[in-house]
Amino acid sequence: MPLQPLTTYDEQVQGLGIKEAITEAKRCLNCKKPQCKTGCPIENNIPEFIHQIAKGNMGEAHGLITEKSNLPAVCGRVCAHELQCESHCVLAKQGKEIKIGQLERFAADFNFGMGLIMDRIPSKSRGKVAVIGSGPAGLTIAGDLAKIGFSVTVYEAQPEAGGVLMFGIPAYRLPKDVVRREISRIEALGVTIMTNLMAGPDFTVDDLFARGFDAVFIGSGTALPKELDLPGKELAGIIQSIYFLRMNALYSSGLMERKDVPVKDGDRVLVIGAGNVAMDAARSAIRIGAESVTVVARVPQEKMRALKAEYDGAVEDGVQFAWSATPGRFVGKGGKVTGLAVMTEQGEQELCADKILLSIGARPANRIVSTTRGIEVDKSGYVLTNERPYGMTTRKGVFAGGDVVHRPATVVLAMKEAKKVAEGIAAYVDAIKLLGINVQEAGI
Ligand SMILES: Cc1cc2nc3c(=O)[nH]c(=O)nc-3n(C[C@H](O)[C@H](O)[C@H](O)COP(=O)(O)OP(=O)(O)OC[C@H]3O[C@@H](n4cnc5c(N)ncnc54)[C@H](O)[C@@H]3O)c2cc1C
Repeated sequence: MPLQPLTTYDEQVQGLGIKEAITEAKRCLNCKKPQCKTGCPIENNIPEFIHQIAKGNMGEAHGLITEKSNLPAVCGRVCAHELQCESHCVLAKQGKEIKIGQLERFAADFNFGMGLIMDRIPSKSRGKVAVIGSGPAGLTIAGDLAKIGFSVTVYEAQPEAGGVLMFGIPAYRLPKDVVRREISRIEALGVTIMTNLMAGPDFTVDDLFARGFDAVFIGSGTALPKELDLPGKELAGIIQSIYFLRMNALYSSGLMERKDVPVKDGDRVLVIGAGNVAMDAARSAIRIGAESVTVVARVPQEKMRALKAEYDGAVEDGVQFAWSATPGRFVGKGGKVTGLAVMTEQGEQELCADKILLSIGARPANRIVSTTRGIEVDKSGYVLTNERPYGMTTRKGVFAGGDVVHRPATVVLAMKEAKKVAEGIAAYVDAIKLLGINVQEAGI
């Protein structure tokens, strides 16, 4: 049966209105030892901001959140609250946890809607820091360092800043205007963002030091998707999910044409993988007009890595699932993929497909480390960093954080690490300024 077309990129989950937000905030018990705070990787001021919402002080609520987070409207939407703050709420035992994610989103959206407050812009006298990559890690470094008096320039390879927030997570979960307005708040702190500039081919880390930067941060994420090494892997129509999601995002922002999106109207699509990227690819394929979408997972359903909410959303959208199905070979005709042979408990089965999307993981590209001396990586390409100063690589003055160090994780974990690295960078730059040494020229 053809699926009901889902043609919209509009946000699917609606936010709280002011009345609902205040009512929800008033349910907070104001615990003496708030567990919600310990459940948040960046220890957001959760009970404090909820208390302010309950009193109708939306500006104060937003100010308390942005003390810890540069991306409240993003985190309010894409953090796994059900596994973090909300699961720690004392009311969770009765299944009545406070909707902390929705309240965070409300405070951020309300502040934007009313233009309530602007962060104070400090003078930029403490030093100059270059940031490579503008995902959650790079943006957090930029925001945190700008707030404490550093001059920060972000270099981004893509035409727009935001990393996975802009080109990975689909617009129906995270509208791109929400990402843009968070970024403009960071720019308003005095951060400069330069796009369409890729470290490696366009400039090197040494060029940045030659331009007078005191420290460089690498937050380049995991840009290399893993291949599935099976017979038939060269057939046309086998596409990486993150490529499909990026083209889809560029198309929905008007920067690409429909023909550039590799899933066409009426395609039968298989998505290999069982994580959140697979769910995003499957749900986006339906929205762009696929006739049918089936997620093929090696694991049984109870072992899927995707969040339950994402799986439920996919089922609601009409995505089908083939669990415990191990891909064996790609099937094709005339150089094009026509299906996938999988091994199941019932024996080998062939699933038909016009397109197969791969969502089986990613690792870092080596464009930066291959053009910079002295940055050591592990055997999978993840950058090695030190505890002191926190986040510094084996090259002095060069720091790294986010997925390029810690493997693909989550937005808030990239932010958590980046916040610690920002402290490491500040301590390092203060120290070299105090000692009056030029580490790069001295080669120490
Ligand atoms: C499809 C998808 C959906 C996801 N959904 C969620 C979710 O719902 N919730 C959640 O918490 N997490 C989610 N994640 C994970 C989360 O987005 C990542 O863990 C997080 O974005 C990592 O942040 P980062 O800053 O380290 O890297 P990224 O976000 O990958 O940003 C890296 C940036 O560096 C740039 N860059 C790379 N190389 C260079 C270079 N040589 N020169 C200049 N710039 C460069 C890239 O273009 C990119 O902008 C998702 C991931 C994907 C792929």
